Amino acid sequence: MRSIIPDYLTEALGDVESDISGELAGYIPELAAADPERLGAVFAMVDGAVYGAGDIDTEFTIQSISKPFTYALALSDRGFDPVLAKVGVEPSGEAFNQISLESDTGRPLNPMINAGAITVHSLAGSEQLNPTERVERVVQGLSAFAGRALTVDEAVCASELEHAHRNLAIAHMLRSHDILTEDPRVAVDGYIRQCAVLVTARDLAMMAATLANRGVNPRTGEQVVREPVVRQVLSVMATCGMYDAAGDWATQVGIPAKSGVAGGLIGALPGQIGIATFSPRLDPHGHSVRGVTLFERFSADMGLHVMEVPAAARAAVRSNHVVGKGPYAIRVFQLQGGIRFAGAERAVRETMDAAPAQARVALDLTMVSSIDDVSRRMLLEVVRRLTLDGHEVYLIDPDSIIPDPDPGDGGRVTVIGDLEEALSPGRTVT
Ligand code: GLN
Repeated sequence: MRSIIPDYLTEALGDVESDISGELAGYIPELAAADPERLGAVFAMVDGAVYGAGDIDTEFTIQSISKPFTYALALSDRGFDPVLAKVGVEPSGEAFNQISLESDTGRPLNPMINAGAITVHSLAGSEQLNPTERVERVVQGLSAFAGRALTVDEAVCASELEHAHRNLAIAHMLRSHDILTEDPRVAVDGYIRQCAVLVTARDLAMMAATLANRGVNPRTGEQVVREPVVRQVLSVMATCGMYDAAGDWATQVGIPAKSGVAGGLIGALPGQIGIATFSPRLDPHGHSVRGVTLFERFSADMGLHVMEVPAAARAAVRSNHVVGKGPYAIRVFQLQGGIRFAGAERAVRETMDAAPAQARVALDLTMVSSIDDVSRRMLLEVVRRLTLDGHEVYLIDPDSIIPDPDPGDGGRVTVIGDLEEALSPGRTVT
């Protein structure tokens, strides 16, 4: 049977195909020569499944979609402080190529506008790298996000370099404030090469999925950047990724995103999906017209808005019941699903409220798929308190969701794989 998702994507593309509004990026002559009819969309799930329709293997230049990824590389290579000292995280509310620097420090407001991105490019790789090595580091890093070796489109690069007056003006401003400490031309050269990296919609979706998957490429399994870096990058994409349309985007689409003037558009929804669309005609903000419409539709059709409230944490406690009789009676709290703070709080409350009369209490984690650090600590503290109150506590944890549980001072827990192990009279579990 055919999957339903490619059919959905094909239908969505069909609905936007007739929209020929918008303009190609005329300020880069080579981009103005692109085929405006190209249209494609890809979903990359965080487990590596990929669905696509339309022009998903056509190469085009990444342009500004390189910005969040190069920001991730700079944060990884140099650490947060040196990068934050040079580039802020405040939305500018202005166009991508606005010369907007903080009035006192000269710091670019954020890494998504060109001023920030040129600075960020200068911070990629170790300080010792020469400009060529720095570009290599960026291309290699973008490739790791995509999961394949990417190359540079020399024609687009040369074409943009010839018309780079505005970016050069920005870079000179940055140099005058000592935000850039090198020749402004060198920084702009490197930045423009970074923007000329060739990608397909499939690559972009995989890059977005790597962000959505805590920095691990779903296909290669490579941890490209660490989780704190991903959180920083997604936050900045959410607030600044769509420049002066960031507020509209946040309310209408609600997915951390980034656009590029060659027509690419990505969205990364943490824990779920990386999405990419490709259609070259742009709106006045420099975002793909059909891409924006597609994202609005995807978000609405599939409930992808990041502020969409997830199912109630109540579901964390599946049941609370007593099994067995007499001295073998056990109060069982069966938990389920992915447990985070609100789910753990619910489980803690249920356990405390029940004030189990039974001497033996079991926390059944058999149906728990994941548990975060705070929830693990909360449950172990419950175990400790139950022990101190005189209970014998079992953790039913066949998959070692909580490996080596240590309930701490005065706590004691017996890990079993199955409730039967605690029930059978012949087997005294100690
Ligand atoms: N290279 C382009 C520029 O610097 C990127 C702009 C964009 O994609 N928004 O102007």
